[in-house]
Amino acid sequence: MQSNLWELFWEGYKIDSWQELGEGALRIRLVATGDGACGGCGALAPQVHETQWRRVRDLDLLDRRLWLELPVRRVCCPRCGVKRERIAWLGEHQRLAHRLVRQVEALCRVLPIQHVARHLGLSWHTVKRIDKARLQRELPPLDYRSLRRLVMDEFALHKGHRYASVIADAETRQVLWIGEGRSREAVRPFFQELGAHCAQIEAVAMDQNSAFDLEVKAHCPNAEVVYDLFHIVAKYGREVIDRVRVDQANALREDKPARQAVKRSRWLLLRNRDNLSDDQATRLDALMSLNAPLAQVYILKDQLKELWRCPSPWSAYRLWRAWWRMAQQSGLKPLIAFARKLKPYLRGILASARFPLNTSVLEGINNKIKVIKRMAYGYRDTEYFFLKIKYAFPGIRR
Ligand SMILES: [Zn+2]
Repeated sequence: MQSNLWELFWEGYKIDSWQELGEGALRIRLVATGDGACGGCGALAPQVHETQWRRVRDLDLLDRRLWLELPVRRVCCPRCGVKRERIAWLGEHQRLAHRLVRQVEALCRVLPIQHVARHLGLSWHTVKRIDKARLQRELPPLDYRSLRRLVMDEFALHKGHRYASVIADAETRQVLWIGEGRSREAVRPFFQELGAHCAQIEAVAMDQNSAFDLEVKAHCPNAEVVYDLFHIVAKYGREVIDRVRVDQANALREDKPARQAVKRSRWLLLRNRDNLSDDQATRLDALMSLNAPLAQVYILKDQLKELWRCPSPWSAYRLWRAWWRMAQQSGLKPLIAFARKLKPYLRGILASARFPLNTSVLEGINNKIKVIKRMAYGYRDTEYFFLKIKYAFPGIRR
């Protein structure tokens, strides 16, 4: 039989006295039950150099916030000299018992920091520090040996005034690296770290407007740059569909109902047809049968996507020729301009037939970063934000 129940929870200590602090808080004063052990080697060290009292938060005791007050000794170890004593349930400089730290970690997996802080009565910074240490500890190690294909992207930090770049393994979806900035210099540290493994990279997917392509070519002699479908289709939506839609709405100034239908069609035209309800699909068909230019840019959007689904660069090239002709013959200025701007990137588009990189990797990372940013709003700790992103993409084993 255990004679001292509290040794179960506070090994090496027993309760000396307790006091109500008000507002549902309780203070328990602990005293040591025996000699201290050396914090360095663990040997018993009966000789005490000095004793300090420490206030520590522990898990709530029933419905009370629990504060402990306990003596922590510095002991004279024959082997290590003067050392702080080892306490099994409390870290050396900690003011929180281990089990409270574990609870903070568990709650941070499912709740935003501010909720955890409020629930446990801890400061926001304390909770963040604990979660940050957990992320650093639990991040899977990087292994470049079987790395062949990369995806690179950029995203806005803090309301879009600053940017960061992210690099992931296209096959496992593991986020390998994140850094501030979106210039060539900003991503250089990644390739320097990759070192000799740069030679094994065969393809890198990216936005055609990024500065990354030259940096990739400078480091990875065997890599083909592949322009990503996700970004090009998004750009097509902004630069072609949106503008043609506004032009058409303006042209219909006399016909109010038709003008409203065109003005409200943005979402219908940008969504994938597969994601529309029957009712929405009917509205889309009606719109397209009434408005030839909108029908044209819509069909060319779908045709453009097909470029990324070709079995060979040759068939992709034939499809591009046909697409180019249709764009030029459309007479629609935004479409002609878009096609002309896209043409210099043709090589990187056709390369997608040789290296089909699933575009959902970039789209998925992009969307998840937005969610994490919303949850991490106001963190002002970029390192923590980056850790959260890496942690969200640990990679699937090959
Ligand atoms: Zn020692």
